[in-house]
Amino acid sequence: MVLNCGFLRNSTVVISFLAVCCLGCVEKDTGAADESGLLLPKDASLVHQVTQDNSADEVDDRRLRAAAKDHADWLTYGLNYNEDRYSLLTQIGKNNIAELGLAWAFDLPSTRGIQATPLAVNGILYFTGPWSVVYAVDARMGRLLWKYDPEVSRQAAILLCCGAMNRGVALYEGAIFVGTLDGRLISLNADSGEVNWSVMTVPENGNYSITGAPRVANGKVFIGNGGAEYAGVRGYVTAYDALTGEQVWRFYTVPGNPSEPFEDPILGLAAKTWTGEWWKQGGGGTAWDTIVFDPEFNQVIIGVGNGSHWNRNIRSPGGGDNLFLSSIVALDADSGAYRWHYQTTPGDSWDYTATQPIILAELTIEGTRRKVAMQAPKNGFFYVLDRESGELISAEPYTYTNWAKRIDAKGRPVEEPGIRYEDGKTHWLAPGSHGGHNWFPMTYSHDTGLVYIPGVKQSGPYAYNSGFPNTVNGVINGNEWAVSFAMQMFNSQVIDPNAPAPGEESGELIAYDPIQQRRVWSIDQPSYYNGGLLSTASGLLLQGDAEGFFRIRSAESGKLLWQFDVRSGVISSPITYLVDGEQYITIIAEWGGGRGQIFKLTDAVYPGTVYTFKLGGTAVGKERVGASVRPLTDLTTDASPSSIGNGYTHYLQNCFGCHGQVGQEGGTTPNLARSEPLTFENYDLIVRKGAFAQSGMPKQDHLSERDVEDIKAYVIFVAQTLRDSKLSSEELAARLASYQKVSIDAQAPSGLK
Ligand code: CA
Repeated sequence: MVLNCGFLRNSTVVISFLAVCCLGCVEKDTGAADESGLLLPKDASLVHQVTQDNSADEVDDRRLRAAAKDHADWLTYGLNYNEDRYSLLTQIGKNNIAELGLAWAFDLPSTRGIQATPLAVNGILYFTGPWSVVYAVDARMGRLLWKYDPEVSRQAAILLCCGAMNRGVALYEGAIFVGTLDGRLISLNADSGEVNWSVMTVPENGNYSITGAPRVANGKVFIGNGGAEYAGVRGYVTAYDALTGEQVWRFYTVPGNPSEPFEDPILGLAAKTWTGEWWKQGGGGTAWDTIVFDPEFNQVIIGVGNGSHWNRNIRSPGGGDNLFLSSIVALDADSGAYRWHYQTTPGDSWDYTATQPIILAELTIEGTRRKVAMQAPKNGFFYVLDRESGELISAEPYTYTNWAKRIDAKGRPVEEPGIRYEDGKTHWLAPGSHGGHNWFPMTYSHDTGLVYIPGVKQSGPYAYNSGFPNTVNGVINGNEWAVSFAMQMFNSQVIDPNAPAPGEESGELIAYDPIQQRRVWSIDQPSYYNGGLLSTASGLLLQGDAEGFFRIRSAESGKLLWQFDVRSGVISSPITYLVDGEQYITIIAEWGGGRGQIFKLTDAVYPGTVYTFKLGGTAVGKERVGASVRPLTDLTTDASPSSIGNGYTHYLQNCFGCHGQVGQEGGTTPNLARSEPLTFENYDLIVRKGAFAQSGMPKQDHLSERDVEDIKAYVIFVAQTLRDSKLSSEELAARLASYQKVSIDAQAPSGLK
């Protein structure tokens, strides 16, 4: 897909990054659902009595372990402890799929994007929306039971790379567990939504956040965190007592200061793979998504993220593998003690996290039954590990890769030359920092033996932004970014003609044979930002996509069998479960998140809607309203090239992540070229003083008045140029790059460019 990215083609910033300058992103907390009287403003308000006993009380270790075979309910994030999202329910199959229809649709009062996989227990759905808000909904009729809002400060948005997202809750012995964007882990009464306990899991004023779903086993709740794109973040996973909230253990994913005792002896060994003074910037390595409990070996297997700073030359200047960045690590579930690890990307410099979903399975490989863990992390290789020992069984590319073409006999990637961008140029590498696959859940069908991957086709620009103003060793002051997105638009570029072209991103649904390590089939998709997957024993493969359709395919062939217009792009994952013995399917459609903030494929951005389907369902779906694009502002500017160039730089650093390319038809946050005149008159009030803070536009007082004026000049200049159509997109990109160079040359002390 080409996202109208012409003028950014050379400008190189095509990655999602941080929200920082969300001018006027107003999110109504009282939407359609309020108007229909279904939501009450108070937290934990019971508005609809449950008609049956809530069997959430009965969800214990026995039931969670049995979930591998009993799929009446959807009890945990990935359906069962294997996290294979393969349901044994077969009432809905290829033979009767034409009869599948909508049972009900329920509107949510949010518009920022829902990534959550709902849980379903005895006909009650539990899921999260933006800002870590938890909902309980009666699956029989689509009625709200309760809603809990942890009231996360909207200023937290300044520390979120990819929106105010949450991927779901955990359920255990009558309690619902949610991790909040500001780092709390909260236990709620599943019946009422009232708080049982709440603990702060991250340092006060640290650059941490939580977007992942907790997991529960053996009376413990496991939770990680995110934030490795920012300075001062050191990743860890913590286990809390499910009943009391007391901390049981914590495992740090990277070593701390070696002059102090290591928290775990293994960190002493890990420290030998680091150089310099990495601990001063935290090191990164956040485990922000995958924490899989493996009951067969009583271990939790975690996926560890990228380093902070991304660039190893900054983070660990003498080199080294930097354990346990970009690694799959197994820990004893009771003590948190290290068991084994496999590092997918030694010395990562590309945001190639290994946080992506991990599926546990038993496979027959070369005649031997193996208990395996499977992952398709960002770096483009599909890994099959022996999960008892951590031994690598096999690894092959599941998508186009040009940073490494293969993994050698010792399990290490064979790096291609130049990929560590030490020459000052901008290197376009595949995959880019969104990976060949990101957090969107895969499914493993026990029928077809295939793993289905929501794939990404994209290159990403990497550079050391050495000439940037306000940078110290590549870490940007104020927001303290620790990334290597190429933000110097005047850099010369190194482009691989065989990789997806710069700015030309798309998706694909990949059916992958994990034993043969090969693709069986794939289906191209216009956006790389599609929902997670579910497969069933009746041969179905289910996915919502960016185009606003919920589609069901043959898991064997990929052939489209059925689809439903959910009007909004989907970034969540479908589930299936029984209600009173009848099979239901639920999917939540709400566009948003990292890329959803800045583009859309549907005609409009809609409030979230929970859709539930069953055989014979006759409810009518929601209609699309038709396009409504606000015009480009008609303001003009006579600002100097240096001002516009400085505004461009600060826009890229602070605004692009939420608001995207200036002039584009935006996603869930407003595009600034289309703002009202009153907004332009109040830039300083909004950006530096936080006038729209409650709407999710964080205050950015690290910017100077001059910088804010220059951002405004840049936005108006681009709008004016697009309106006048005197420059082609390539000419506009070149013009902006030259203006940026002028401003940086004017600001940088001599010799420091
Ligand atoms: Ca990252």
